[in-house]
Amino acid sequence: MLQNLLNHFRCDLAVDLGTANTVICMVGEGLVLNEPSVVAVQQSEGKILSGGCAVGHLAKQMEGRTPERISVVRPLRDGVIADFELCEAMLRYFLRKTRRPGRRLRPRVLVGIPGCITPVEKRAVFNSVHRAGAGRVWIMPEVKAASIGVGLPIAEPTASMVCRLGGGTTEVAVMSLGESVAAQSIRAGGDRMDQAIVDYLRRHYSLRIGTSTAERLKIDIGSAYSLEEERTVELSGIDAVSGLPRRATITSEEIRQALADPLQTIIEAIKSALDHCSPELAADLVQNGLVLCGGGALLRRIDRFIGEQIGLPVRVAAEPLTAVAKGLLVCMEDFRHWRHWMRSSEEDV
Ligand code: ADP
Ligand code: MG
Repeated sequence: MLQNLLNHFRCDLAVDLGTANTVICMVGEGLVLNEPSVVAVQQSEGKILSGGCAVGHLAKQMEGRTPERISVVRPLRDGVIADFELCEAMLRYFLRKTRRPGRRLRPRVLVGIPGCITPVEKRAVFNSVHRAGAGRVWIMPEVKAASIGVGLPIAEPTASMVCRLGGGTTEVAVMSLGESVAAQSIRAGGDRMDQAIVDYLRRHYSLRIGTSTAERLKIDIGSAYSLEEERTVELSGIDAVSGLPRRATITSEEIRQALADPLQTIIEAIKSALDHCSPELAADLVQNGLVLCGGGALLRRIDRFIGEQIGLPVRVAAEPLTAVAKGLLVCMEDFRHWRHWMRSSEEDV
């Protein structure tokens, strides 16, 4: 009774606090926010520009184009909070954006976290989210949320497998009978790919480009496996020797070559999860295959590449970028049923 009354004044949120993007779903409404996890700050004072509003989409537009006294910062790195204060400020802004009239109580929040983070890093998540304006906070492994979000039959007595390719982390889990039976989580993801492109251009073209240009190249012409029609783009950067702006032409084959190392790291993570599977589970996986989600799943032909390397059927989830948040939302909607996957700050973390 009291619970029902309280629910009238507060909302329940599912927050995917990603290294690259923050996605928030609200119980009763669905997806309510999807913005880059970036902020633009004044260097001298460390304050967020525009009175705390230069966050998300607005800050992302400024990336790589700011005058010297301003920098665009990502408060999370490799899946964990790197700048505590900025993360809190960013979250406060996002939570304020999802506020609804009449709902005066602080929202209850479920946050997805990578499997590879330490107890201290988990504590930082609780503190940041709480200080940003949340009431009760729970955390849950995001790869488990992803397994629900992509629609795996996780409760069945058959193994199914999900791989989330995020900006800072890559996570793999094999699920059976409602639990994870093998998992792997590493601090490497899309950001490594961007860096690999930066390094490639410097080495082969003596050209300096920023990571946001590298990310654009990856998205525009990047691929994990040969394309039916290879592509070419012209880009500009700074000549590493003369220091002057210069143009260059680069092909999709070259970008693929640049991405070879980070892609191999992903394959190794998947193989290491498979190593922990019994022959019965492995036999199920031959049948059920692997589902990819996270932004990295959008890289051209990555399903084909991974499928060939590990010898399992691979497919990309329907909405790879929001799978984790959607899964967290399902858990928040049916709180009691999924409570055993969650941890609150008082519980042993
Ligand atoms: P996180 O949860 O860590 O924030 P996301 O799942 O939001 O990560 O994915 C972000 C990553 O996906 C970034 O590294 C981004 O560059 C990459 N990405 C997004 N779209 C594409 C695309 N079309 N091709 C390749 N990579 C992409
Ligand atoms: Mg994410």
